[in-house]
Amino acid sequence: MKKNYEAIVIGGGIVGCAVAFELAKRGLTDILLIEKGYLSSGATGRCGAGIRQQWGSKLNARLALESTHIFEHLEQYTGYGQSCGLQQGGYLLVAYTEKEWAQFQENLKVQQALGIDAKALDLQQAKEIVPFLNTEGMFGATFCEKDGHANPFHCTMAYAQGAARMGAEILTYTEVTGLRTQSGRITGVETAGGDFFGADLVINCANVRAPGLAKLVGEDIPVVSERHQALVTEPVAPLLRSMVMSFHRSFYVQQTPHGSFVMGIGPHEEPSFNTRSSWKFLEKNCAVICETLPLLRKLNVVRQWAGSYDLSPDHIPVIDEAKRAKGFYSVCGFSGHGFMVAPRIAILVANHLTGQTDDLDIRTFSQERYQKGVFLLEPSVV
Ligand SMILES: Cc1cc2nc3c(=O)[nH]c(=O)nc-3n(C[C@H](O)[C@H](O)[C@H](O)COP(=O)(O)OP(=O)(O)OC[C@H]3O[C@@H](n4cnc5c(N)ncnc54)[C@H](O)[C@@H]3O)c2cc1C
Repeated sequence: MKKNYEAIVIGGGIVGCAVAFELAKRGLTDILLIEKGYLSSGATGRCGAGIRQQWGSKLNARLALESTHIFEHLEQYTGYGQSCGLQQGGYLLVAYTEKEWAQFQENLKVQQALGIDAKALDLQQAKEIVPFLNTEGMFGATFCEKDGHANPFHCTMAYAQGAARMGAEILTYTEVTGLRTQSGRITGVETAGGDFFGADLVINCANVRAPGLAKLVGEDIPVVSERHQALVTEPVAPLLRSMVMSFHRSFYVQQTPHGSFVMGIGPHEEPSFNTRSSWKFLEKNCAVICETLPLLRKLNVVRQWAGSYDLSPDHIPVIDEAKRAKGFYSVCGFSGHGFMVAPRIAILVANHLTGQTDDLDIRTFSQERYQKGVFLLEPSVV
């Protein structure tokens, strides 16, 4: 292996792999991506991989819309020889309170202004999409046919292999443990195995571990780790084409192309790096999902797992260069929806780092917004 690179990317989740791919696509082929486990071993491989454009903030709606366009042809875009498993059966977002229903009407205005084909449904129309939906207590729903979900392992691998084909090197099972700087600039990274790899550009895509790495160069990023759990059932014949989601009850449920149901429910826990599964989650999740979709009562759960959200104060990512280590960028704080916006964020980061123009302003994502009190509030998150 070489000892010096043009750029080093830390983290082999979808964000790191997409950033490496987009940089390579822009001619930076001398890239090293370092991952402490295997590719997708972090949040990416544990996520629901849902892709929705029905956001309340214009920023998130736009990031998701433009990312969806890439997911729709990710195989051709990256030269990947397999399907990335995109299934666009729509998201059915259900409202349980009057306030939430009013917010959904506001969200629709934002989405429709961007050309997102989302619409409001009454309860009868919602049942036409999901006939076994228990609509008791619901006020209404919104639906966007182009929302859906994909296979997170294949999507990440598509980016990683695409980057490698253009010359990027990928080093797995190697943890970055130190950062070196000189005269206020990053000069490279140290690994747990005692190696040093030099680069004057390092992109920190380590998700919940990103703030800890940034701290090594004096940067305080207000992103915390929160455990989120999910489970999967035995596979059955196709029953549910759309993702069903509630912000008020904080759940999502979908059926994968394989026939299994994947679902989760928000925890509202104290920040921690805990990724152990809990009995409490299993009980609560099953109770809420079976009340909403009673047909699923008969299914057996085959596995449950946990991962971490890298929660930022306003649920919008942070993209920043360290003040005391120029050339060291952190890209984190995706807060539970990093999979679906990773394609567009990676383009934005790569455009910025290679001096290309972008009609999104990268400064929007600077954490300076927190110091200035300019929170980019997103009203519709699980
Ligand atoms: C249960 C659950 C459900 C979710 N559902 C959805 C969803 O439906 N839709 C959606 O859009 N998002 C969802 N998310 C969020 C989504 O998973 C993340 O936002 C996204 O995967 C973030 O990608 P990433 O590449 O930044 O992080 P990760 O995939 O976590 O990648 C970071 C990588 O960095 C590596 N790393 C960390 N420290 C070091 C180090 N020191 N040296 C080397 N490598 C290091 C880690 O091993 C990891 O592989 C969900 C998350 C969870 C936990």
